[in-house]
Amino acid sequence: MDDWKLPWDGGCRCGAVRIRVTKPPLLAAACHCSGCQSMSASAFSLSIAVPSDGVEVTKGEPVLGGKSRDVHYFCLACMTWMFTRPRGMDWFVNLRPTMLDNHDWFEPFIETFASEKLRWAETPAKHSFETIPDLPDFEPLITAYRAEGKRPADR
Ligand SMILES: [Zn+2]
Ligand SMILES: [Zn+2]
Repeated sequence: MDDWKLPWDGGCRCGAVRIRVTKPPLLAAACHCSGCQSMSASAFSLSIAVPSDGVEVTKGEPVLGGKSRDVHYFCLACMTWMFTRPRGMDWFVNLRPTMLDNHDWFEPFIETFASEKLRWAETPAKHSFETIPDLPDFEPLITAYRAEGKRPADR
């Protein structure tokens, strides 16, 4: 069931770092946590979880930043926050979907840390969690996203 129109290409704002996604995503999320508010300079961050072996850096060398337990990758030239490797869960990468050249189709399927969200911040996510889903919840969420998740539109 490969209607994701892969591969996807993308990059940071200045173009020094380029990436390519070659495997279907697992889940799409918005995170309202205060750390994401700081790092995104916005109300929430957006993530698309992709299997680790389905993401490659095709140009440039991202650098580490964003103090937290997870490992965040940035473009050194324009400081764009590009993707995150969650510590202890190295089978996927959380890519910021707005890095993708074509991302107008993106829609979060879940939202996390709703307990920390700005009062007015709303997303179209179908599933909302006060913090993060419990580990056993991930598999049904991934299955549901595979079936229902928003895809890149026909062009
Ligand atoms: Zn850049
Ligand atoms: Zn967060």
